[in-house]
Order: sequence, then C-alpha cells, then structure tokens
Amino acid sequence: KGYSSQTIEENCLKSKSSDVYIPEITLAEYLVNNFSKFPNKIAVECGVTKRKYTFDDVLVKSSNLNKNFRKKLKLQKGDVVAFFMPNVPEFFITTIGVHLAGLKLTTINSVYTPDEIKRQLVDSGAKVLVTLPELWQNAKKAVEETKNSISIITIKNKNSDTTPTGAIDWAEFANTPTDIPDAELPSIHETIYMPYSSGTTGLPKGVELSSYNIVANIAQIRHPDFNVVESITDTHQDVTIAILPLFHIYGFTCITSMMTDGAKVVTLPKFTPDGYMNSLRDYRPHVLMIVPPIVIFLYSHPNVQSEYLSSLRTVFSGAAPLGALDEEKLRRKVGKPFNVLQGYGLSETSPVVTVIPLSLQGKYPGSMGSAIPNTLLKVVKIDDNEGKHLPPHTNGELLIKGPQVMKGYYNQPEQTKNTFLNGWFKSGDIVRYNEDGMLYSADRLKELIKVKGLQVPPAELEEIIRDYPGVLEAAVIGIPHERHGEVPRAYVVAKENYKIDVDKLRKQVESKVAKHKRLEGGIVIVEEIPKNASGKLMRRKLKSKYLEEKI
Ligand code: AMP
Repeated sequence: KGYSSQTIEENCLKSKSSDVYIPEITLAEYLVNNFSKFPNKIAVECGVTKRKYTFDDVLVKSSNLNKNFRKKLKLQKGDVVAFFMPNVPEFFITTIGVHLAGLKLTTINSVYTPDEIKRQLVDSGAKVLVTLPELWQNAKKAVEETKNSISIITIKNKNSDTTPTGAIDWAEFANTPTDIPDAELPSIHETIYMPYSSGTTGLPKGVELSSYNIVANIAQIRHPDFNVVESITDTHQDVTIAILPLFHIYGFTCITSMMTDGAKVVTLPKFTPDGYMNSLRDYRPHVLMIVPPIVIFLYSHPNVQSEYLSSLRTVFSGAAPLGALDEEKLRRKVGKPFNVLQGYGLSETSPVVTVIPLSLQGKYPGSMGSAIPNTLLKVVKIDDNEGKHLPPHTNGELLIKGPQVMKGYYNQPEQTKNTFLNGWFKSGDIVRYNEDGMLYSADRLKELIKVKGLQVPPAELEEIIRDYPGVLEAAVIGIPHERHGEVPRAYVVAKENYKIDVDKLRKQVESKVAKHKRLEGGIVIVEEIPKNASGKLMRRKLKSKYLEEKI
C-alpha cells in the first residue's frame, strides 16, 4: 500500500526528501501512545471558558466514551458517529473515544442548516450525532427529517448550559467507567474518518480516510525538511491556538497531531478579532496553523502586540496562496526569526501534498511548495486520459500518488473510479512547476468554489435553485472576492412565460444553506447556459466570460 518514490519508474515529480517510515498503527493508538509521558500537562483548554483537560483526563474520558458508546448505545465496529460542533476541547476527547471504540467519524460544518446536516447524516448513515446545547434545535430538526434512529449527545459548553430533553449528556458518558472488554479496532487500511468534499464534481461525498492515510500524512509533514508541527514539551509546553475549524481536514489532522508530543491546544469556537487577540495575549502560542487572511489580521491589526507573538516558532499557512509581502509584513511585526511554512492539500489527501521546505523559505514567492516525502506528482494535459507528465512551466491538472491519498468516496464507486487515472488521484487543480519542482497554483479545473477556505459545491446550490418555481436551469460559478477568496454567482434560465423574482429566489437559497454559501456574487437571469454536446453545464465558460467582462 505504501508508495516509495524509489520504486516508481514513471516520469513524474518525486519528492526531494528521503521517504519517511509510516508507523503501522491505528490513529487512536498513534495519538495516545505518548500521553502517559505528560499525564498532568494540559492537553486542551477552551480559550473562552478556560475549562481544561489534562492528558490523563483525555485518556480516562475517551476510554469511558468508547465503552459507553458500545454498551449504552449498542454501537458496533464501523458504525458512524457524526460531529456537529465548533472547536471545543471535547472534540478531541470524543474523536479518540470514537476511534478507540472501532467506530467511524464524520464531521459536519458547525454552521450548517438542518437541510445540510440531514444530507450528511443520511449519506453517511450516522447512528449518533454529537453536538452542543446551543446547536440542539438545528441538530434535532435534521435528525427528525432523516427519519432514522439517531441518538443525540450534547456537550455542556457554558456554565449556563443544560442538557436538552431528549439528548444524552456527554459528561454522563465521559465520566462513567463501564466494564466491558476493549473493542476490536479496524485494520489500519479500513476507513475511520469521513470528511465531506464535493471533489471534482457534484454533491458533497464522504472521503474515506484510513488510519494509515492520516498517520502517514502526520509522519510525512514531520520530516525534518519541513518539520511542520513537531512540538516541544520537555523544556516548556508548546501551545497552539485552534482557530481553524476542526471539522475540516486541515484542522483535524494538523492540530490533532500536535497532541502526540504533549502540546497544549487552546480551542476557540469562532473567530472574533477580540477573542483571538485575547488568546494570543493570554497564551503566547508557539505554533500557529492558519490561513492567509489570519496572517494579514496578525500583522495589520493595531491591537495585536508584537509581545503576543514573542514565543512564535512556526506559522503554517495553507488552503490558499500566501503573498510574499504578507509573509514579510508578519516577519516585521514579530521582529524575531521564526518559520513560515506554506502548503497545499485537499480533504482527499488527508490533507497535505506540498510544502515549501524549511531551507527554501522566502526563495519561491507565491509557490505552494514541493512534494512532501513518499509523494509523487504529475502535471498532465487537461481533459486528457493519457496521463503524460508535462514539462516545467506548463499549466496542467495535478495528479497525486502517495500513502495519504483516500481510499475513495463512500458508496460512490462511479465517482471514485472517475477520480483516479491509472492509480493516480486527480486533484482537479490546475498548476505548473519550475525546474526545482516547486509548484504554483494556476486555476481550478473542478467546479468547487471556496469561500473563506470552506467548500461551496455549485451542484448543491443549483439543485436548490432548480427547485424554485419557474426555474428551468441554473449554473453556479465562483467569482473572485477580495476578502473571501471567492463568492458564488448564479446564472438562471426561466421557464417560458415565467418571471423570476430574484429577491425571493435569493431568500429561498438563504433559508436552506449556511451563510458562506449565499449567492453574494449575484443572481443573473439569462436566456441560456452554455452546455457541451452531452448537455453538461460549461461553468468554466461562464467564468471566463465573467472575468473577461470585468476587465
Ligand atoms: P478542501 O478539500 O476543502 O481542503 O479543499 C481543497 C482545495 O483547496 C484544493 O483542491 C485547492 O483547490 C484549494 N487549495 C488548498 N490549498 C491551496 C493552496 N495553498 N493554494 C491554492 N489553493 C489551495
């Protein structure tokens, strides 16, 4: 299963770093293996309420959860537990509990509407939903609409919280020891985690990741050439502030992995300038995993004092390109040396694929890095099934091979087949590379729109728009947006003799989707939507037309 860059003869881009050894253990074992070395250090703390758990607490509570999931809820190996919550300390404890019980985890965006939650619950076949009392109404509505029997567990997140009638109190499971034997754990190649991604086309799908995928990715990014998240606990306890959503693969893998060395993770349920600033002031983080807009916030906000960043050792920025000037401005604000790492990845690759090596920091402005260890890359002609690696400086689709590549999409054999070409995963991203193997992002081939780093699948919005009375057809594209990266824009064709009230249509969409999926780029009524010979919407054509007209 593991790919060694030495054994592949094909013409492609090989990582310049030596391969790393991938431990053959489950994610749960990998995470907790070291916990006994620092039992009394703080593992997780809420940056708002300050409630905290030591590594010993995490071990005890995750073990209780594991046993109560099986004893009280009769869950069996492979059953799915869904999380619908923002960043709270209990996210980690419950994740470990789920994995120790041999169950699968799926994470739902905490700002989703009942419709969106329901879709993921039904598609994943979840048997349990773990949430917070403040999200109970949405959670309950979604569960009712599934018509499935799904137990809801709520985590008290504030002193004033009470457990809603009909919900199970998380603390009751986490604090009650139960005497049953250990669970049979899934093999390292079985699916244990399913984030949702629309991939190159269509609706969100469960991305089947195994322990091997995630443990491999952690080992890969810890190669000394990159050293993305290795933490220190011997001389002091490293601290990170978890502002990236843990329900997304970037936060899930990269932040969770810091616990293995005994780092303290401070969770913030949502980004507010004051909340974030206060956490920087109070906790003086050593490692920050962030996205470019937060880098800009750090250097530009007058109230973020340099002293708050005085312990910084590593900033990892991913999900979108970080400008060279932005990096420079952050360095100036901090005023002492630290590493700035940049990378690229996807839910389907656990997530990391490329990172700029430590030795090359600042040398390739605008690059998203080169292949991390054990990873092979190809850049191939778009819409071409030959899969021949193109020469440098030529735009093409990025294909990926490595131990971090997902097994496939859950219950979607056709989509899974279409997303691989001779064993290579098709990223749907258009990139080019230079002679040194450094990659540059050029465009997106897939229809996916990313708003503030979050996925917005056009197919989902088009489905809702098509449901509106009088709509014949709809196509949604992403248009550039200064602060959000992109925002969705809809093109709509009305049925004959129908006049569509754009305002009402907008409201209809708003009632069904999370805020970041709203049609901020506008709704345009058009006569027709460009399609290819087989009737497929040509969204890229609409996008180029929009961009041309903007210029
Ligand atoms: P997700 O599965 O939600 O993590 O989304 C993955 C997609 O985000 C990729 O396929 C890219 O289109 C985009 N992406 C991730 N990292 C970068 C980056 N460093 N530069 C440009 N785009 C990125």
